[in-house]
Amino acid sequence: MAVALDDKIEATYRRLVARNPGEEEFHQAVREVLESLGPVLAKYPQFAEQKIIERICEPERQIIFRVPWQDDKCEVQINRGFRVQFNSAIGVYKGGLRFHPSVYLGIIKFLGFEQIFKNALTGMPIGGGKGGADFDPKGKSDNEVMRFCQSFMTELHRHLGEYTDVPAGDIGVGGRELGYMFGQYKRLTNRYESTVLTGKGIGWGGSLVRTEATGYGAVYFMREMLAARGDSLDGKTCVVSGSGNVAIYTIEKLQQLGAKVIACSDSNGVIVHNKGIDLDLVKRLKEVERRRIADYAGFHKDAEYLPGGNVWQVPCQVAMPSATQNELNGRDARTLVGNGCIAVAEGANMPTTPEGVKVFLDAKIAYGPGKAANAGGVATSALEMQQNASRDSWGFEYTEKKLDDIMTGIHRTTWETAEEFGARGNYVVGANIAGFIRVAKAMVALGLV
Ligand code: GLU
Repeated sequence: MAVALDDKIEATYRRLVARNPGEEEFHQAVREVLESLGPVLAKYPQFAEQKIIERICEPERQIIFRVPWQDDKCEVQINRGFRVQFNSAIGVYKGGLRFHPSVYLGIIKFLGFEQIFKNALTGMPIGGGKGGADFDPKGKSDNEVMRFCQSFMTELHRHLGEYTDVPAGDIGVGGRELGYMFGQYKRLTNRYESTVLTGKGIGWGGSLVRTEATGYGAVYFMREMLAARGDSLDGKTCVVSGSGNVAIYTIEKLQQLGAKVIACSDSNGVIVHNKGIDLDLVKRLKEVERRRIADYAGFHKDAEYLPGGNVWQVPCQVAMPSATQNELNGRDARTLVGNGCIAVAEGANMPTTPEGVKVFLDAKIAYGPGKAANAGGVATSALEMQQNASRDSWGFEYTEKKLDDIMTGIHRTTWETAEEFGARGNYVVGANIAGFIRVAKAMVALGLV
């Protein structure tokens, strides 16, 4: 099923799998990038001489630590924390923190690896990193979450800094968690170092549009992909998976651009509402009351809840995977294409399996991989850092326009790079190559470090 690799690259990949056993998601993310790189090595022989591929696949630093905390019953709990500082050739390590029970080194490494190329595509000076813990915020009280975040930051803080490593949120880490972590960082260091974290609240150094940025950005990317085919979002029927931060603001921007979103989901089931998803209700259930999406059906009699359902079986023209890795497999991709889906843009990181990606590419539908389509979140983090560094705060429209320009730019770069390397319309090839070349050139320039 997988695309054949160039012989040398194949050997590199095999060594990587042997040296990083059991880290399946990491292998998958690496393989997907390496599949695009054959023509790059042919064009830039110095990348092979300098072993850039081998170097880029090895994190610069990996930190794994114990996170002890006490729950509300005063029982001691132990979690495992991670920060993988993957690549700092073009800027400080930058990438989110994920709190989810599925987190282990292989997940953080796949995310950190993807982040290198995503961040490079934004055109901003940010390197790649990722972190998190196998902590499950679901069902925990605010106090438990606070104690966990404080313990997590007590170790992590010594590895961070404005000029070193700047985390943000990801799954399970939003404004509440970042607040507790920033508070603890400030207490430990006695410094109000705004630039050490992004995704901060508006009253304490955060940027307008950061909350919306990943979802809005993914929709801008979708708009550009459709425009390249002479089409638009107006009147399109859309399905969005998930109902967290990325899904919510994907739905919001789709609706603003005239599309109709008829389904969303969480890990328990799917909501189908043919009249169009009531976004205010989703926001209240998920952002304010932290409830399950199943409760949506109690407020709308004409909506259907499918427990354990598969959101990709809902026929649509536009699909936006916005939940988590490998949530859309080959069968789902065939179902989508068979039902007339013409475009997919990924708000989540690596949500489509390699088999699913192949189905989309073979069907020649517009397919925007996460490292291009969801770069709006981290790009707006970089805008937040700019505001913090200049002690300024920009208005909503001004910031949103910058986000729009960045996403339009990423679309153009990935499109043009794919064309240059003989893969017209293939944004996977375009994103992998454009991101890789930018980082690889910087690595060559910085010498063997
Ligand atoms: N976690 C987000 C991502 O996957 C955002 C990272 C950031 O803002 O640093 O890109």
